[in-house]
Amino acid sequence: MSQYRIETKCIQEGYKPSKGEPRVLPIYQSTTFKYDTSEQMGRLFDLEDSGYFYTRLQNPTNDAVASKIASLEGGVAAMLTSSGQAANFYAVFNICEAGSHIVCSSALYGGTFNLFGTTMKKLGIECTFVDPDASLEELQKAIQPNTTCVFAETIANPALTVLDIEKFAELAHSNGVPLIVDNTFATPINCRPFEWGADIVTHSTTKYMDGHAACVGGCIVDSGNFDWEANHDKFKGLTEPDESYHGIVYTQKFGKLAYITKATSQLMRDLGSIQSPQNAFLLNLGLETLHLRVPRHCENALKVAKYLESNPKVAWVNYAGLEGNKYYELAQKYMPNGTCGVISFGLKGDRATAENFMDHLKLVAIVTHVADARTSVLHPASHTHRQMTEEQLVEAGVQPDLIRLSVGIENADDIIADLEQAMANV
Ligand SMILES: *Cc1c(COP(=O)(O)O)cnc(C)c1O
Repeated sequence: MSQYRIETKCIQEGYKPSKGEPRVLPIYQSTTFKYDTSEQMGRLFDLEDSGYFYTRLQNPTNDAVASKIASLEGGVAAMLTSSGQAANFYAVFNICEAGSHIVCSSALYGGTFNLFGTTMKKLGIECTFVDPDASLEELQKAIQPNTTCVFAETIANPALTVLDIEKFAELAHSNGVPLIVDNTFATPINCRPFEWGADIVTHSTTKYMDGHAACVGGCIVDSGNFDWEANHDKFKGLTEPDESYHGIVYTQKFGKLAYITKATSQLMRDLGSIQSPQNAFLLNLGLETLHLRVPRHCENALKVAKYLESNPKVAWVNYAGLEGNKYYELAQKYMPNGTCGVISFGLKGDRATAENFMDHLKLVAIVTHVADARTSVLHPASHTHRQMTEEQLVEAGVQPDLIRLSVGIENADDIIADLEQAMANV
């Protein structure tokens, strides 16, 4: 793996042109790839040779970008997906089947909550949601003989709880299963979960990685650290012959690349949520400035959080960068350079107060998005999480009055001035 610092990796990793090739990563806008003999092509389908043959499985533009993200996270391999939802589904489904069980933090993105709690249940995969702040002994009670992984978000969207990664890694490893961490909000600039014991990392690249709200995408990164063979019977999909590939055994044939190879050659082949090479190209442009944007998001968010904290119309502010926040110490440990640009807060008053405030914003836009260059705002209880009951909202750490503010990289004083003038109306 490259020894460059993360800023250099953002720019230089992934695409490595040789003599006379384009300096900038080309968009391989091609569904298919040419071979000279029938035998060459046959070997690809047997996974005997590596090479491109069809973009649903692999594409050189995508691979270059995936390899950059793998390097940023300190992993051995990565795969791009069409969305963050697809990334989380594949990451879990790659080691699950009907009859399996997963344990997941209840502080979770609404889409993932539906995926694990409702849709995967229809496939016969059960999920137990746990309080991420519970003790190890409490968490252990959720583990079953058929549990195949533990899942959580580094910084939960939108509850903004900070995960005790080491505690969750211990829970997973003492039960012979991997820890999968959705690192969307922290990004590898602020936190690299593999350094704290996570085994697999996922991303909605739609957020800070793209950073400009230009394209939906996702990514799965494998640390290569989890020993599937040591838990042979739990992970038969990796450790026993795959009949759909003439009986190859992923762990035997691909070693540390077993998990990503299976996800690519089996799940992507059969389910097909590939990222378009055009989107991968745009994602790569975003990644080049990730190390500049993320610190600025954090700096602005801290200023805005302090402003909100000092405003008498504000009932509460949640931002782990604020001293006194419940997660301040955990954030200092796992992400000392900053958490993310997303803040949540509540106004004194009722739901109508929040709506009234939002309707008066001029610079800050109401959008179903977070974590891009432009400051935006959302009321999860009325928008992203509106399918949840009040009880489920509270369990997910989403109070009904919660306003999610995604602080962009404009001048912080302009953002504060806009909040101030909207606040004057409530
Ligand atoms: C947005 C988001 C997702 C879903 O990603 P999409 O790219 O919208 O499919 C998953 N996890 C987290 C933490 C997110 O913020």
